[in-house]
Amino acid sequence: MRKLEHGKLVVATHNAGKLREMADLLAPYGLETVSAGELGLPEPEETGTTFHENALLKAHAAARGANIVALADDSGLAVNGLGGEPGIHSARWAGPTRDFDMAMELVWDKLGDTADRGAHFVSVLALAWPDGHSECFEGRVYGSLVWPPRGDRGFGYDPMFVPEGETLTYGEMDPAIKHSSSHRAVAFRKLTDACFDR
Ligand code: IMP
Repeated sequence: MRKLEHGKLVVATHNAGKLREMADLLAPYGLETVSAGELGLPEPEETGTTFHENALLKAHAAARGANIVALADDSGLAVNGLGGEPGIHSARWAGPTRDFDMAMELVWDKLGDTADRGAHFVSVLALAWPDGHSECFEGRVYGSLVWPPRGDRGFGYDPMFVPEGETLTYGEMDPAIKHSSSHRAVAFRKLTDACFDR
């Protein structure tokens, strides 16, 4: 497993919600971060068929474009009653205007009378170096879906997702609590255990 040196790291995202979470997670590790958006790097097309493929594709594109180590997240909501959809298509279900009220409604409508309200968030973090080396880490959080959506503190599908053992949706929860236990936090802990010297 290759270690991460101190220095600058490009976060391969154009999504403000994800960038905020990743910057929070990286803050204690003394790494200077810059986003692909800030560097004016183009957003690569997500042509992969798995979270892993898409995370790697984004990380390699940013590492090549910025010539420094890049960190990418590919994530989404997998709904039991929809055979794992929207999954890797979670952003696309919100359409070009990124309308997540519409995307959440679509999920709920498609679920219809299905009794199983279970769902999980997945995050795959990929680190890529400019020389082509890469490492991947996956995190999941299981929970259930509620309707109507509640809270405006998160992003994406947060207002309709209640993690196991909680009563608040991710949209209602203090972001610090979400960030300490989310799918991205689980993947991030695996990454820091593997790639940072303690
Ligand atoms: P992508 O990884 O850029 O393809 O987009 C992932 C999409 O999954 C986001 O735009 C959100 O809709 C959804 N998603 C991923 N993580 C979260 C989360 O923590 N909360 C809510 N929605 C999320």
